[in-house]
Amino acid sequence: MGDVEFGPAGIPIAILEKNGDTTEGVMYCRNIGLGAMEVEFVYGVKMSQQAAKEVRTAAEENKVRLSCHAPYYINCCAKEEHKIQASIRHIVSSAQAAFWLGASPVVIHSGYYMGRPQQECRKQVIQTYQLCLDRMEELKIRGVALGAELTGKPSAYGSLDEIIDLAEHFGIDKVMPVIDYAHYHAREARLESKSQYEKVLHEVEKRLGSKAAKDFHCHFSGIEFTPKGEKNHLEVSSNSPPFEQLAKAWKENGWSGRVICESPLLEKDALKLKKIYEKA
Ligand SMILES: [Zn+2]
Repeated sequence: MGDVEFGPAGIPIAILEKNGDTTEGVMYCRNIGLGAMEVEFVYGVKMSQQAAKEVRTAAEENKVRLSCHAPYYINCCAKEEHKIQASIRHIVSSAQAAFWLGASPVVIHSGYYMGRPQQECRKQVIQTYQLCLDRMEELKIRGVALGAELTGKPSAYGSLDEIIDLAEHFGIDKVMPVIDYAHYHAREARLESKSQYEKVLHEVEKRLGSKAAKDFHCHFSGIEFTPKGEKNHLEVSSNSPPFEQLAKAWKENGWSGRVICESPLLEKDALKLKKIYEKA
């Protein structure tokens, strides 16, 4: 395996246009030179154990590392108890499918402040994550981490500080930070230079140790945004933010792991990222 593997957020477009088969998607990734793929459960988890096993076999044979993205309808700090319970069900069923797939992490958008103080939401997010981890333990779901994603809007739980805090609280084997650099660019601070990217990397390494740097999982794409945060994911060629500076920062700081490309061009842009990385 290379130092950094690249892959699409979901089944490659070429296979979506053909038949949308996940196993074929995995094989296609390998055929075009990609070593990762995120299985998208964003509109719900609808994968049988049998189907997952078939995908897992293809992923192992083709050396494509899998991760999953949990449904969008999650709010770990919802005000209503039934919404918390539904969020736990979505996360645990994603984790169950991930376990069958041999995939990790399960990427999660943690929730929304809805006008409440950060500390109040933090308490609730931690409690909900803990209930998910307890349920996963009961179901003997092992080797699957929850991936707290850096979210794209200031109204959503999931700043860089908050996702690192979750990983610190639970330990990185249970909850890992999933930096979406486009989201960071939209919600926190502009990323233009290598040193601006390095500031993010150093913060992660300082608080979570070298393990966080040796097998990271992140998202990358271009992004259009307003003061309210993300608007649209854009192609890598938008250079907003630029990838080359991040690739250099990873190489110089000895970072390795996986990049999932969320641009509208999915696998084509994942390949573009890979080329930029190799040249950097
Ligand atoms: Zn996401």
